[in-house]
Amino acid sequence: MVFFCFLVDTREMVRSSKPAAGICSRCGGGASVADMETATRFCYVPVYRRTWRAIICTFCGALLKSYYRRHLRRP
Ligand SMILES: [Zn+2]
Repeated sequence: MVFFCFLVDTREMVRSSKPAAGICSRCGGGASVADMETATRFCYVPVYRRTWRAIICTFCGALLKSYYRRHLRRP
């Protein structure tokens, strides 16, 4: 019996964050510089991992600015 698994998911995690200048355009909360990690998993096995930097809102979690082009992310 052959089992095919097509389950692919991508997780974004905040590894660390520091307060930054600027306010959130959505809620007016404070912004912070965050080191993000994107992990793409296939059948629950991490196959691709990338760390990147972003400005996020500490209050609502909105991504205000990111420092890599998201469309370059591999499937
Ligand atoms: Zn916000």
